[in-house]
Amino acid sequence: ASRAAAATVLAALETVAETVDAHADELGRMDAIAGDGDHGIGMQRGSHAAVAAAREAVEAGAGAGTTLARAGDGWSHRAGGTSGALWGLALREVGATLGDEAAPTRDAVAAGVTAADTGIRSYGKAEVGDKTMVDALVPFADALRREVDAGSRLADAWASAASEASAAAAATADLLPRMGRARPHAEKSLGTPDPGAHSFALIVTAVGETLAA
Ligand code: ADP
Ligand code: MG
Ligand code: MG
Repeated sequence: ASRAAAATVLAALETVAETVDAHADELGRMDAIAGDGDHGIGMQRGSHAAVAAAREAVEAGAGAGTTLARAGDGWSHRAGGTSGALWGLALREVGATLGDEAAPTRDAVAAGVTAADTGIRSYGKAEVGDKTMVDALVPFADALRREVDAGSRLADAWASAASEASAAAAATADLLPRMGRARPHAEKSLGTPDPGAHSFALIVTAVGETLAA
């Protein structure tokens, strides 16, 4: 198994958990406007469980794919909530695409993110415009694929995809939620971005900074 890739996965997940910690209060406040206010705490529980599960896998000699699969299971089991199920699924999809053997190429990373995008939309049934994390995920996955196909280095492709995700997450402020707990209180959420789209953008931006370092 490719141990260097598994160690990179663990480091990226540590960055995710740190980013979520730094923004947990903000995410909770955003989710309280039209949802139930638990997005910060749920993302903290999930991301820290993912780190713990990934660390255990790395210590046992797992490759990147298995490390991501264990992390995804840990995330969805501990987080509860819609976003926890979807983040766990995303990590498992990326892991299944990367596998354990080869050192992941930028092509494999783009394919993994596309698989996560497809998996989340098929499981959660949200489409672009429903005011969910899908509004940030789809432009992220599409831009990553496009930039990688154009020959950009992974760090550059990821950074421009993350900036598209951030703009798309901010733009959800103008939308009315059509999925999830926020839907019954849709009009209250006007003017505030979707918390799941915002956390997605924060996370991919932070992970991108570690790729560039
Ligand atoms: P819960 O809504 O169960 O309390 P969270 O507060 O952690 O879970 O997550 C809320 C976020 O989940 C929303 O802001 C939205 O981005 C995302 N979400 C909700 N429903 C869906 C769905 N069907 N598909 C994709 N994302 C969704
Ligand atoms: Mg919530
Ligand atoms: Mg909840």
